[in-house]
Amino acid sequence: MDVNSSNIEEIVRQVLDNMKGAAPAPAAAPAAGQSVPKTARVAMLTELEKFELKEYAIPELGDDDMLVKVEGCGVCGTDAHEFKRDPFGLIPVALGHEGTGEIVKMGKNVKVDSAGKPLHIGDKVVTCVTLRDDPNITMFDMNKQNVGAADVYGLLPDDEVHFNGWFADYIVVRGGSSVFNVSDLDLDSRILIEPCAVLVHAVERAKTTGILRFNSRVVVQGCGPIGLICIAVLRTMGIENIVAVDGENKRLEFARQMGANATVNFKDFQGVEALAGGVKDAFGGYLADFAFQCTGSPVAHANIYKFIRNGGGLCELGFFINGGDATINPHFDICSKEITTVGSWVYTLRDYATTFDFLKRAKGIGLPMEKLITHKFPLEQINEALVTNLKMEGLKIAVVNK
Ligand SMILES: [Zn+2]
Repeated sequence: MDVNSSNIEEIVRQVLDNMKGAAPAPAAAPAAGQSVPKTARVAMLTELEKFELKEYAIPELGDDDMLVKVEGCGVCGTDAHEFKRDPFGLIPVALGHEGTGEIVKMGKNVKVDSAGKPLHIGDKVVTCVTLRDDPNITMFDMNKQNVGAADVYGLLPDDEVHFNGWFADYIVVRGGSSVFNVSDLDLDSRILIEPCAVLVHAVERAKTTGILRFNSRVVVQGCGPIGLICIAVLRTMGIENIVAVDGENKRLEFARQMGANATVNFKDFQGVEALAGGVKDAFGGYLADFAFQCTGSPVAHANIYKFIRNGGGLCELGFFINGGDATINPHFDICSKEITTVGSWVYTLRDYATTFDFLKRAKGIGLPMEKLITHKFPLEQINEALVTNLKMEGLKIAVVNK
């Protein structure tokens, strides 16, 4: 193995990556130097709260498959749930679904991505879903309905391929998967694509109510990564009258940086009526036209109706998993106020592709998206990465391969 020359290539690559705004990186060039090793590592969750780095032979590729060298992958709440409790019963499993990397090998039939853009060795890609098990679902359906019914890399049961998740050195992207060429986005942006797609979808769902407009007063409850990105998506749409609600001043400060023009710390208020008064004051004496509920707390769900004006709208997207029952009063909260409610979960393929443009626009208007990634761990420290996520320290935790 020629260790030295591959190191040099890596260093050159890093230097080029750092030259932001300089001439476009020669992404199509590396074919000659990218030697693919015979074996590589996968972080396998082998028991609760324990990843082991396992070395496997890189499998032969089919004509429709490609091999992608992993550059980085965000840690999702779903990963944390798997790590802690394995609710989907997947162990042993190669996790990581918010990943991105570089194509190093392609089957002969691979020509274009899911949007029709050409694919070459050296291109940076993301995947969304694979239709491995269900031939009755087509990519066309995935443009119209959310991808919840499809399989996702990083949540597949282990099999003879092993390279099925993004917490690894390499991933095998099988034919029939959605894949997008995102070479024009930097690494941090690419790591944020998946969570951002969740918010692009939520805002699309909100728009179906016909209530969300340029001059709407919008309240966003919960300022974790999801709420913060929600604010950013609203800003890129031109919505400016945004009030953020959370219990932590640090997060509320970040919400302002992401585009909220007022914030409310619920800990400053006793009882929901007082809290609703706080939201009203933050809008200069008006309740919200529209609300996004971005926490997994049943109490927060029950509260949010009080922040919305008669005839207003609500998008509930906080309950990615079952967080229990919430108690509301159907008369006061929904009927008499005529609140239009939509739920939102994951995204459609179309929303996923829209997200690439959102990320460019967010940067363009100066939103500090890259600050969302507060921690980066090498693959060797994947256990620490998950523990950090569970401790709710920081915002987005990422595993980055260098
Ligand atoms: Zn996720």
